[in-house]
Amino acid sequence: MAYKVCIITHFVGRLKFSMPQKLVVGNWKLNGSLAANEALLKACEALAGADIAVCVPFPYLAQAASLLNGMALGAQTVSEFKSGAYTGEVSAEMLAEMGCRYVIVGHSERRTLFGEDDDMVGRKAAAALRAGLVPIVCVGESLGERDSGRVMEVVGSQLGAVWESIGAQGLSRAVIAYEPVWAIGTGRTASAEEAQEVHASIRRWLAKYDVPAAEIRILYGGSVKADNAAALFAMPDVGGGLIGGASLAAGDFMAICRAAVAKRDC
Ligand code: PEP
Repeated sequence: MAYKVCIITHFVGRLKFSMPQKLVVGNWKLNGSLAANEALLKACEALAGADIAVCVPFPYLAQAASLLNGMALGAQTVSEFKSGAYTGEVSAEMLAEMGCRYVIVGHSERRTLFGEDDDMVGRKAAAALRAGLVPIVCVGESLGERDSGRVMEVVGSQLGAVWESIGAQGLSRAVIAYEPVWAIGTGRTASAEEAQEVHASIRRWLAKYDVPAAEIRILYGGSVKADNAAALFAMPDVGGGLIGGASLAAGDFMAICRAAVAKRDC
């Protein structure tokens, strides 16, 4: 009996040990100024026990890179192209050269406001990997799609296009962000249980398509605040958060990061 308990404890211990710590990513969107960024970044810092990154507008990458306090740098979108006659585009190689580790692809605002479709998101994820960046692949359903019971149909086809482009091996190097469109910037968050249900379904989807699902970080995004972060991060399949509005206030962002540290074994 003692032997069995020991084996189980050892196994659970190893599982916990192999789970990566939570990742908290700030998405500044179209916000900032040199003065505001400096004040914000000087008040934020890396914390032992969580991975923290900030995804800033392109013109501020160099400034942010010099003020990271141990956090990682990311961008909010990337061109699918490497170079050439693509006015206004920014390549993954350029982002890497500026010190980025992460890049968000397929954010719902890019999909709805700038016409990015599932296939383009797949090509952007491929471009990110080609340059050694970690793509943060955003997926999520609209309210109408949720109400008609189509959450995993929608999320599955968004993920499927990325899988077609970068395969299971590519996805194993990516981060997924589940961001229900109805929760982004609306103040309405998915409950921790609603988020967990979709995250678990995403993990099952990944396993079905030969991605090492247990190791993939699946972030939740959509009106995460200091007062709901702990409950969300306590869910076993929630690997961290993609934070929009609350990443613009250092106190709120750091409180969310501290919640991630506190829940790192979940
Ligand atoms: C986002 O921009 O990815 C996001 C989740 O925004 P917010 O936290 O403001 O809802």
